[in-house]
Amino acid sequence: MLNRVISIAAFGALLVGGCSGKKACPPSTPCPEAPKTAVTQTAPKEAPVTPAAIADAKAKLIAKHGEAHRAEIERGVDQVGKLWRTSDGDLTAFCMEQFLPDPAARDALFTRLQEMSEQMKGHFLELGRTARWNTEVDTGPMAPVEPLLAAYDPSAHSVEDMFTAKVAFAALLNFPLTTLSDRIKSSDTWTRRQWAEAKLTRKYDTRVPSALLQAASSAEAAADQYIAGYYLWMHHVLTEDGKRLFPAKKHLITHWNLRDELKANYEDKDGLAKQRVIVKVMERIVTQTIPKAVVDNPNLDWNPFTNKVTAAEAGTIEEEGASKPKEVVDTREPDARFENVKAHFVAGKAIDPYSPIAPSVIERAFDAAEMPEDRVRKMLVEILESPLAADAAKEMEKKLGRKLEPSDIWYEFGQATGPETELDAITTKKYPTPQAFEKDIPRILRDLGFSAERAQYVAEHITVDASRGAGHAMGAERRGDKAHLRTRVEKGGMTYKGYNIAVHELGHNVEQTFSLYDIDYTLLAGVPNTAFTEALAFLFQARDLDLLGRPAPGGEAERERVLDAFWNTREIAGSALVELDVWHWLYAHPAATAAEIREATVKTAQDVWNKYYAPTLGGKDIPLLGIYSHTITSPLYLFNYVLGHLIAFQVEEHVAGKDKATFAKEFERICKLGAILPDAWMKQATGKPVTTQPLLDATARALAAKKT
Ligand SMILES: [Zn+2]
Repeated sequence: MLNRVISIAAFGALLVGGCSGKKACPPSTPCPEAPKTAVTQTAPKEAPVTPAAIADAKAKLIAKHGEAHRAEIERGVDQVGKLWRTSDGDLTAFCMEQFLPDPAARDALFTRLQEMSEQMKGHFLELGRTARWNTEVDTGPMAPVEPLLAAYDPSAHSVEDMFTAKVAFAALLNFPLTTLSDRIKSSDTWTRRQWAEAKLTRKYDTRVPSALLQAASSAEAAADQYIAGYYLWMHHVLTEDGKRLFPAKKHLITHWNLRDELKANYEDKDGLAKQRVIVKVMERIVTQTIPKAVVDNPNLDWNPFTNKVTAAEAGTIEEEGASKPKEVVDTREPDARFENVKAHFVAGKAIDPYSPIAPSVIERAFDAAEMPEDRVRKMLVEILESPLAADAAKEMEKKLGRKLEPSDIWYEFGQATGPETELDAITTKKYPTPQAFEKDIPRILRDLGFSAERAQYVAEHITVDASRGAGHAMGAERRGDKAHLRTRVEKGGMTYKGYNIAVHELGHNVEQTFSLYDIDYTLLAGVPNTAFTEALAFLFQARDLDLLGRPAPGGEAERERVLDAFWNTREIAGSALVELDVWHWLYAHPAATAAEIREATVKTAQDVWNKYYAPTLGGKDIPLLGIYSHTITSPLYLFNYVLGHLIAFQVEEHVAGKDKATFAKEFERICKLGAILPDAWMKQATGKPVTTQPLLDATARALAAKKT
């Protein structure tokens, strides 16, 4: 589902591949063959079918099968007709051959397409896994061909291939296509088979001409490139009174590194002064008053408060940047940031007519998340309006010994770390190799509460590989294949940190196994979206010490974890809200220039700040909420992070305090609900739709625990 979320949001290389008919470009590199500007003209061979052809197909089908089938014939032919192109051939002949009014024949078609879907997904995954094997698994030095193989996406053209082969049309002719609001309305009454049918046709609800996809993909690649080169050399960024506080060679990318540096500075004696510099830099980026010449340039000193640029002081120039211009120019960046937003909008809007089920970028973003915008928006506002923010702010002020400032939007309550060296000694001895961890999986599962038989069953479906990175879980997509757990084991054995991640990944693998092997319809394999699998993996991770026979961290560490989750959710909620408002403004002002988009973004960010953040963090008209790089590279994804936090707390609350056997049974049961609507899943899992309440309740308890 994540692929869908990302690709629908950005319609990039992930879903359909970039370069014309050859191989897909990796999402972060530009597509050399892709056109530089959006293509608005559709090629003649991709011209839509005429209304007369659709009417003819309907009339002939009704004549053949009778009036009793009129409704389903009209629905099926309309669904096909909306995406059929003249180059696909004779619409009527196709419909006459493929329409199946007989329920048994239709059942057989459903089963056949479900089987094909599982095999395609499963084998594409295996091909991709093989292509990326040496990049992901620690197999020693890498050959130059590995990055090329890793960029290869075997499934890149699979949806268009199914349209070309007309298999997609057979599905659309015989099974109903649903909108998000149809699915929401039916969520209490549908059978599992109906959910599976909806999943089947959803794969084919959109068919975008390749030129438009290429345009969207190149807008995405250009935005990725823009952000990928947006660094600041912090040694050259000065305080208001001209001081140089940051060390040499500190090279930070917007906005992730800048934000993390800000967070790290709470421990520093000059911390607050540095944080003020970072906030000012961020404001200059959002308002585009940043001098263009200072971006990724260590040869210029810049005071972001006065906006004065000077040649870097002798002896401060960093070697890597020696080739950068020294010429002192202070012209502002000419709205390049918002040219990217405009390019995403233009490319997305061109796609709208080819997505009849969700005809705007905003609708496609929420369709991908399977939650309606008004529900999500309401939850964002609930988080922002919660009076708990004022209580949390009070605790922060007490800890910091000062009034809060805008930079404290990224405050961390801190995680009290346990005695890690002692734990390292245990885990390195217990797990000298990835195989040792694999061998221990049945025991781990039994200790979590699974029966010996279920523990053995799951363990047989998981294999452990040595990871190059920190670790990840890769589930299987077809029955017969195994889930892969990637874990990093150092020479001296698995560290506690590595073990903690491995237990998290094991949670993913167990979910992936139940939700594929034990599901009633493989079209429903998985979970509603990535937030759900993360929530489930976290349930395992939170029990990692218990599995080592150690007491679980309670008290202060747990309290701080909850408060951090609240503060963090509240921070992203504001940025997500700004982004939504900006995209609605874009649709209302489709001809807006980059400068006008900048003005609208700054104004929206300031308004949200004044309303929800100024009361606790101070500052007026602060544009900070516009800084997220995601809004430039993959628009309309931010709200998913907020949902992720809410879902994690809700699932956690559901199993909290249950005995081990009940925990394991519940875990297995909720994994088998599959990829249905998030709200339907949550209702069947916990009795309530997705709500802000568990996170807010946990926050209230955490705040109260301090007072007593
Ligand atoms: Zn995870």
